[in-house]
Amino acid sequence: MENRIKFSLFLEGWSFENGDKNFLKESAKKVLFNEYSPEMRGSIFCPECCADLFRSPKEKDFSENGRTAYFAHSRGTDTDCGLRTKKAQGKKYLTEEEALKAIQDNELVVIEGFIKNNPLLPEKESKEYDGTLVEEQNGPIADIPISRHRGQSFRLPSKFKTVRGLVNKFDENINRYFFMPSGKHAIQLLDLLTDIKSVSESDDRPKLYYGKIEKSFNAGNTPKNIRMTRIEYESQSYADFYLKLTDEKQAEKGITDNSVGRVIIMYGIVTDNGAGLCLERLGWGEFALLPEKYEGLLY
Ligand SMILES: [Zn+2]
Repeated sequence: MENRIKFSLFLEGWSFENGDKNFLKESAKKVLFNEYSPEMRGSIFCPECCADLFRSPKEKDFSENGRTAYFAHSRGTDTDCGLRTKKAQGKKYLTEEEALKAIQDNELVVIEGFIKNNPLLPEKESKEYDGTLVEEQNGPIADIPISRHRGQSFRLPSKFKTVRGLVNKFDENINRYFFMPSGKHAIQLLDLLTDIKSVSESDDRPKLYYGKIEKSFNAGNTPKNIRMTRIEYESQSYADFYLKLTDEKQAEKGITDNSVGRVIIMYGIVTDNGAGLCLERLGWGEFALLPEKYEGLLY
């Protein structure tokens, strides 16, 4: 992903020198490249470090598809911002207090795991998402090696999350730092997401994957049968890429024959599936459709 700054925060009258960052994050309007207009100049800020941004080009999109437009940090403000660098280095903290504060401020999340089973409802009743389901639970205090001092760990509270919890406010989460199960660094969600098109072989380390649904059908006759959801994929070595999970489990997340073109996000391991690859046996909290309004942040 070349343009690491997917949107800017627009708020007139706010200033980086003496403005309250939380106020900016709560009150500003999120502006995409193509939503920018010249009168916003001087009032757009970085969604992570809150420093001044500019959009290039300054006037309208030059190309019709807006491909040449991007946001960048203005010269003059020097911030330690994950969106300035091209590579995911991992966020480090000087002290345990600083890391704890980052967790309290929702800038950092330590994920112990994803919730395997629906904690509230027996499977039969959980037909549709009503907005009240649990999307996170407290995990244990864990030793997390994100100190600037090599070899030092901090004792930090962790969470069990759901992928649906991550995608519900995807625009806010995309620049948040996550320390993943079996991870080594706190990495922005943007850098944790692996495009299924880039997968070249099976992989027994669980990761967050995203892809576009090309086709979906129930391979049997009942909701207990496996629904085969094919993800857009091209490879010299493998024929196809599927999510394999019962029809009822996929239906609960809104995945049906009519889901073609939707983006799906999944956490799991990639295994062989005949002549192709697949993700299967995913838990309740390990996959979700990305709300359509956020698709532009990935494509
Ligand atoms: Zn920044």
